[in-house]
Amino acid sequence: LLRPRLTEVIAGTAEMKSSVEALQQKVSTSQDEINQLRSDLDRATSEALLCPMTGILNRRGFERKIESLLSQQTADGHSHCLVMLDIDHFKKVNDTHGHLMGDRVLQAVGEILRTAVTDANHAAARYGGEEFALLLPQTSLDQSIELAEAVRNRTKAMRIRNRTTQEVLLTVTISGGVTAMKPDDDAASLISRADAALYAAKNSGRDRVIAQA
Ligand code: GH3
Ligand code: MG
Ligand code: MG
Repeated sequence: LLRPRLTEVIAGTAEMKSSVEALQQKVSTSQDEINQLRSDLDRATSEALLCPMTGILNRRGFERKIESLLSQQTADGHSHCLVMLDIDHFKKVNDTHGHLMGDRVLQAVGEILRTAVTDANHAAARYGGEEFALLLPQTSLDQSIELAEAVRNRTKAMRIRNRTTQEVLLTVTISGGVTAMKPDDDAASLISRADAALYAAKNSGRDRVIAQA
């Protein structure tokens, strides 16, 4: 009488074991899918902050970074600086050499900015069109001017060549405005002060960096 009962229990246990295993398999598959989606999302999120043409931050990335700059305390003897840069007479590059050549210049300038930034907390951004920015936390105004001048000099030294003949096709210059963050600044006031300095650089002959403390 007892024997069949026992067989039943054993069969039931085996059944339960296999359904638990099936469930574990499902959970593990779901976990794999979640991990994959999470890494896809991470990649998409960081790509959304980059300019595909130059590989530096885009406008959205710039805005994120400037907000983080505004929320950071400055260390003793340091400040946060913003450099706004704008290629000189860029419309003429497009008009004379075409948009594709214009894009090549933008890529090359983006590369100059990207490699000029060596501090992990600093960032280069394409603000829009032919306008770029350097976001420089914990950096003095003098150091920021120096970095802007390095970008200006490297831009001026850049030669865009015909890829086959190596003939120099064009050169460009860039103007920059530098400013340091003040305690009551928001993004708009900080950007507008850097812009005013940039405007002064344009008006006083271009190919120069002007700082406004
Ligand atoms: P300034 O020295 O005063 O800055 O003069 P500018 O000619 O550089 O300035 P302007 O604002 O008149 O012209 C900017 C030009 O940049 C016009 C626009 O067609 C060009 N531009 C903006 N974005 C792109 C882009 O993604 N690719 C190309 N090729 N050109 C662009
Ligand atoms: Mg412009
Ligand atoms: Mg310009």
